[in-house]
Amino acid sequence: MARRTIVKIGDDILRKRSKEVTVFDRSLGVLLDDMKETMLHADGVGLAAPQVGIPKRAVVISPDGKQFYEFVNPVIINSSGKQLCREGCLSVPGVSGEVERPQYVEVLAFDRHGNRFDLKAEGFLANICCHEFDHLDGILFVDKMIKGR
Ligand code: ZN
Repeated sequence: MARRTIVKIGDDILRKRSKEVTVFDRSLGVLLDDMKETMLHADGVGLAAPQVGIPKRAVVISPDGKQFYEFVNPVIINSSGKQLCREGCLSVPGVSGEVERPQYVEVLAFDRHGNRFDLKAEGFLANICCHEFDHLDGILFVDKMIKGR
């Protein structure tokens, strides 16, 4: 595994729609492993591939640094409820603020081997999923921030 450089706000890649992953090969696994290492080293709870300069629909998440989730081509197929979340972002240093997110989400995605899975998430995990999946569409939390600095 290797740490990659985290792209910061102002870089165009953070504003583009990332492409679907179509090939589930070893390089995808390497990318996900590198993203995990990069996220942990930066004390983050989630990281999307465009944040390391790769415009592909891949995300790693760890709400507590112990449990890990990987999502390839994730889609939120159901959501409900509302929660007010205090968010920050490794690509937007020094800024945090409140964003309204669903309380529950149901996600359809693929793992690194191309197997489809379904995940129901609530609370903090649902919050992170929404934040990270937004990155894949070029959306940053500051676009949705209600208040913050
Ligand atoms: Zn982010």
